[in-house]
Amino acid sequence: MASPAQEIKKAVALPKPNPDFYNLVETLPPHELAVVKQVRAFMETKVAPIINKYWVEDAFPFEVLSGFKELNIGGLGIQGYGCAGGSQLLVGLVAMELARFDASIATFQGVHSGLAMGSIALVGSEEQKQKWLPPMARLEKIGCFGLTEPLVGSGTGGGLTTTAKRDGDTWILNGQKRWIGNAPWCDISIIWARDVADNQVKGFIVENKTTPGFSVEKMQNKIALKVVQNGQITMKDCRVPETNRLASGSQSFRDTARVLRGTRYYAGWETTGVQMGAYENALKYAQERMQFGKPIGSFQLIQDLLARMLGNITACQCMVVRTAQLADEGKLTEKQSALAKAFTTAKTRETVSWARELLGGNGILLDYNVARFFADAEALYSYEGTFQMQNLIVGKEITGFSAFV
Ligand SMILES: Cc1cc2nc3c(=O)[nH]c(=O)nc-3n(C[C@H](O)[C@H](O)[C@H](O)COP(=O)(O)OP(=O)(O)OC[C@H]3O[C@@H](n4cnc5c(N)ncnc54)[C@H](O)[C@@H]3O)c2cc1C
Repeated sequence: MASPAQEIKKAVALPKPNPDFYNLVETLPPHELAVVKQVRAFMETKVAPIINKYWVEDAFPFEVLSGFKELNIGGLGIQGYGCAGGSQLLVGLVAMELARFDASIATFQGVHSGLAMGSIALVGSEEQKQKWLPPMARLEKIGCFGLTEPLVGSGTGGGLTTTAKRDGDTWILNGQKRWIGNAPWCDISIIWARDVADNQVKGFIVENKTTPGFSVEKMQNKIALKVVQNGQITMKDCRVPETNRLASGSQSFRDTARVLRGTRYYAGWETTGVQMGAYENALKYAQERMQFGKPIGSFQLIQDLLARMLGNITACQCMVVRTAQLADEGKLTEKQSALAKAFTTAKTRETVSWARELLGGNGILLDYNVARFFADAEALYSYEGTFQMQNLIVGKEITGFSAFV
């Protein structure tokens, strides 16, 4: 016998959840739209069915890595050097699509392709780009980005304690980095350290597995983004050749900030994807869950929650699309990127909590595919610069006063 929900479905074909209400993905040219669709199909069929298990186990799903490589999105947005190329809008929409199914996989891509490869593409020399980008684009070498330290998070601009000391043709690195995504298993780290000679921050490419004195301890007991492996890196007299110092720029923290300008609004795309995933699963649940003899989706207060969620999602999508357009025109500023990161991550916290609420008790069970988004949203709110730091950047721009202390 059919359940009441099935009976209702038979009587009226219910609309399929669509978190892209304004059809933004259709603004892509056909060849880029095909990439997004390929990513979506991969995430839906290969990642979504297994990801909760990995989340519980605090483990990275290496079983999907070969399929991920075949998507050819290593170095998306970077032109040449075997990278996938494409517009910034494509970079964003792919990040959104990844995060719509799992924020950790989107973060893995953001750290490797955006932060690690992006640093080499933006501040590396021609030789460094030729050497490192092609194997990274093929995901034969995976990268991470080491800026944050155990005692220095928001204050990295002025307070890095990791040191770099020149010794002939090599540099000696000493210090620790914390929270570094992919670090426990990846091949290459971009390490930002303070040159003891001129007190300026410089970037270095460090080969994790072959550099004596370089060690990584996996961080335990996270309650968000559990699939991404974060590590605490310790460097004790690590020798890095001068040829591995990011050379074309990388003479001050301004270069680090250039990299972060791009990746912060990438976080805006990721967090928008998180909202979409939570919304879709909440809407499906609302269409099926019966209370008082009716699907809960037919109740006014549930529809109010869903409409609010969709409003948040659509506002965030429009915002990040504009940041991508500005980035494609080479006009995106650090302040614009900061506003997008702060606004979208704050809205995400609202959206995922409404989605969780809509599921009642089942909202706290991983099995219903909302709880993971709910928890992961917290990490996105804080990483790549916290909400407060982004708002201080915006506040300085709009008032003319710096409130940084
Ligand atoms: C899951 C995850 C992944 C990460 N991945 C990486 C990575 O791959 N590489 C990397 O380098 N880092 C990474 N990070 C680090 C991340 O960028 C930092 O956590 C973030 O910048 C905040 O630093 P903190 O955690 O030390 O917080 P703190 O800087 O200690 O801040 C604590 C609180 O104080 C507030 N605060 C600080 N200063 C001010 C101020 N002047 N005015 C007002 N409020 C202030 C902050 O907003 C925050 O609420 C990751 C973090 C997480 C959680």
